[in-house]
Amino acid sequence: MKFGGTSVGTAERIQQVFEIVTSQTDAHPIVVVSAVGGVTDLLLEAGQKALAGEVDIAPIKAKHQQVIEGLSLPADMLDTYHEELENLLEGIRMIKEISPRTSDYLVSFGERISCQLVAAHFRNMGRPSQHHFAFDIGMITDDVFQSALPLPEAYVRIADHLKEVNYTPIITGFVGKNKKGEITTLGRGGSDYTAAILGGAVQAEEIQIWTDVDGILTTDPRLVAAASNVPVVSFKEAAELAYFGAKVLHPKTIRPALERDIPVVVKNTGNADHPGTRIVRESPTTDATVKAISFKKGVRVINIYSLRMLDTFGYLSKVFDIFARHKVVVDMVSTSEVSVSITVDKGQVIEEAVEEVSQFAEVRVEKDLAIVCLVGEGMREGVGIAGKVFDQLARENIAIEMISQGASDINLGFVINGQDADRAVKTLHQVLFETAS
Ligand code: ASP
Ligand code: MG
Repeated sequence: MKFGGTSVGTAERIQQVFEIVTSQTDAHPIVVVSAVGGVTDLLLEAGQKALAGEVDIAPIKAKHQQVIEGLSLPADMLDTYHEELENLLEGIRMIKEISPRTSDYLVSFGERISCQLVAAHFRNMGRPSQHHFAFDIGMITDDVFQSALPLPEAYVRIADHLKEVNYTPIITGFVGKNKKGEITTLGRGGSDYTAAILGGAVQAEEIQIWTDVDGILTTDPRLVAAASNVPVVSFKEAAELAYFGAKVLHPKTIRPALERDIPVVVKNTGNADHPGTRIVRESPTTDATVKAISFKKGVRVINIYSLRMLDTFGYLSKVFDIFARHKVVVDMVSTSEVSVSITVDKGQVIEEAVEEVSQFAEVRVEKDLAIVCLVGEGMREGVGIAGKVFDQLARENIAIEMISQGASDINLGFVINGQDADRAVKTLHQVLFETAS
């Protein structure tokens, strides 16, 4: 059972966590926690401030203090940790440097502290409980700071440590250690990954990701008030959705679960009775439906046009090699005999790559576009979905710049003008989900 930052963000939430966990005692839950909500960002900010010459842990202390007070825990229980943190920041201030390794050590304080708060509360409430730092129970990783991967032997070691515990273990998400004993992290949002690794190691019946929304929704509820819960998605659908902005889960995090056929359930700590979303290996139905609509704004399209492309081999590899060398992440691709169109996110720096491609092709970059993406395994068999979708967009007078049907057949994506994005998502949500057909 993994509880995210907001789920352990306040004393009230931690009490809810306690109730949720104890309601499942018979299943011998293993609990994984993120840092208290907001603390990871505060730690990173404190690191930046230290670089600029100022050491200040007051905002971090304040977050923890409100939990300590709200749960009537010993006021001094974190003193040694806060002191160690202050010393670390003092060191950063002096050497004016923060390496990826130091950054991981710095952010690890968030989870190393939150697990203690939660375990202490469980014990106060009369439930036998112990906190563990994941690296003390076998979470051994490679050396890639800030996005470490567990080594294969981690699974065996973890299973060994958790085999016969007769209490509720509360374990740090996010962190591990490399073989040299240096603290690593699995990347932002990495606690989900920890949960999947631990669940995979002990061959759990189920992995529960407790967060602050009712699982995966048909689209972003901030845009469409009628967005509703999707009860079941396949691993593939979840991965496609995660990729295009539905920030419920990172696709890589569920791999350890997928490989071992362990279902993942996403649930809401503040609304525990809601069934949430079940992520399973295969989607149970083949009904010709779209499961959800995701979208991403601030997208650019690079149109590359050249007659040289006609009847030559190696052209595409030449183009993509250039983007690879300039480390540009390409999302969507569409080609014709004489042109290639690719989309890139707003964060990407494309100028040098574009310059290089311009030496042998005509290149046109369009900005402020949006990708809208429909996801659902049912689309593989479904006939007429594309017709319905593009018909509706035509009726709304929304021009389409580019279309791509993923190789997986479970995703239909298209690019439109950024200003049309909200309107497109709303109208498609309406015809696909809000009206009975
Ligand atoms: N606390 C870490 C973060 O904010 C890990 C997590 O929450 O999953 O990225
Ligand atoms: Mg988080």
